[in-house]
Formats: sequence, C-alpha cells, structure tokens
Amino acid sequence: MAEEKKKASALDGAVMTAEGLSFKGFILSPVVENCNGCERVAAFEDKTYCPTYAEPAKKWTRGICNFATHVKATVDKEGKTKVNPLKASKRAARGR
Ligand code: SF4
Repeated sequence: MAEEKKKASALDGAVMTAEGLSFKGFILSPVVENCNGCERVAAFEDKTYCPTYAEPAKKWTRGICNFATHVKATVDKEGKTKVNPLKASKRAARGR
C-alpha cells in the first residue's frame, strides 16, 4: 500500500498558548512588515509567523534579516551593510 506523504507545514507541531504561538520550545511573535515577501513566512490561524526566527521584529532592528529570502544584504569594503542593488537603484530613481 502506497503511503501518501503530506507536505508538512513549516509550523507543524505549533501550539497556541496563552503567551503566544509555541513552536519547538520557543514563543513565536508574528512577522513584521519587513518580512512581507519572505518565503519563510508561515501562516497559523489568522496570523503569520517565522519558523526560522522567533522574534522577527528584533531580527530587523540591526539591518536586514540574514535569513530573509526576499532581500539580500551585501557588505561593502568599509564593512557597511548595503541594500541589494535593485532596491538601491529604485531608491535612487525616486531621488532618495
Ligand atoms: S526569515 Fe527574516 S525576513 Fe523571513 S520571515 Fe523570518 S524574520 Fe522575517
């Protein structure tokens, strides 16, 4: 008998608790605006969470999230983080 394999959800095993969404021993916070477009975002009930990082808001406080799949950060010669060239050119076109 062939066993049907279901594609496991990224948040398989997550449980909603009084403190928030509990997943693998961590309490997950909902994703932030910067996460929009990231492939890691996973929905649970009516909210979206990041199975990779419990507190997405903190991940973005010091620049671009290094787990993000939709934005790539590069480091220039001076060690400064730069936004990807496509974003930079759009920003330049807008005069910022
Ligand atoms: S990997 Fe980073 S950008 Fe993607 S959902 Fe998680 S915190 Fe947000």
